[in-house]
Amino acid sequence: MPIYDRVALIGLGLIAGSMSHAMRRAGLAGEITGYARSAETRATAAEIGLVDRVCDSAAAACEGADLIVLAVPVGAMSDVAAEIAPVLKLGATVSDVGSVKKAVIEAVSPHLPETVHFIPAHPLAGTEHSGPRSGFAELFDNRWCILVPGDADRAAVERLEAFWQGLGANTEEMDAEHHDLVLAVTSHTPHLIAYTMVGVADDLRRVTDSEVIKYSAAGFRDFTRIAASDPTMWRDVFLTNKDATLEILGRFTEELFALQRAIRTGDGAHLHDYFTRTRAIRRGII
Ligand code: NAD
Repeated sequence: MPIYDRVALIGLGLIAGSMSHAMRRAGLAGEITGYARSAETRATAAEIGLVDRVCDSAAAACEGADLIVLAVPVGAMSDVAAEIAPVLKLGATVSDVGSVKKAVIEAVSPHLPETVHFIPAHPLAGTEHSGPRSGFAELFDNRWCILVPGDADRAAVERLEAFWQGLGANTEEMDAEHHDLVLAVTSHTPHLIAYTMVGVADDLRRVTDSEVIKYSAAGFRDFTRIAASDPTMWRDVFLTNKDATLEILGRFTEELFALQRAIRTGDGAHLHDYFTRTRAIRRGII
């Protein structure tokens, strides 16, 4: 039984593609339309039947849609919202999947008419792959999708939550600032550390490329996988979640300096206490 008759996906990459596959798996939408800025992406999406109808403009994809999901990089949200605003159906729900919430709300809300429900969302699921061929139906299974409904209509919020649960996710509600701080700790800063670590290995010319791969233990391999993530998406994440990532990065740097000093001065007690504390944290999580 469909939850929405017509769903429009703007952006046809990893997240939108996975949503389309998962919607079809569960029969959540009567019709799925889609649009991406690049003609090549639209052609690929049409060729592989990623959505039911690929449109030539974002506005055309959104006309008559009951749910519109903005699945473009965070920096593109404002322009897309401005383009679709004039054609939005009365009572439609507009949502997004952006990795940052406060900046997306500030970018999108001013463009939207009061006749639609704007309910921002963020599925905590992804891979290092991008583009229309990278999506798969299982991406959201047993992952969290955080909704940031503010004071949106409760019936519309509950419908969107049921939709995300139908896609396989567990849902949770949060305010935007809290979301951005939590994600700065759990995702954004770790990505920056991975980018840095891979950059450092690349700078170390005494270690050849083949050695980096040949001898890489799981830790470094995971860093290289994370550091292969889409550059546009991650540029936008750091530009738009500036305050929270700088806050966490500041704390990270302080701790790193303390560990650096402990290594230099041979302060084994500091290192041991620190690693004991972090191990206890991990054991408390799982
Ligand atoms: P992607 O690169 O796979 O897809 C992005 C799509 O947006 C592409 O089809 C591209 O053509 C299109 N696009 C870019 N600018 C556009 C514009 N101005 N108008 C129309 N289409 C445009 O990226 P993705 O991983 O699917 O990410 C999409 C969104 O989901 C981002 O906001 C990202 O922050 C968020 N997100 C990503 C992940 C992840 O791990 N990849 C996880 C959760 C949320």
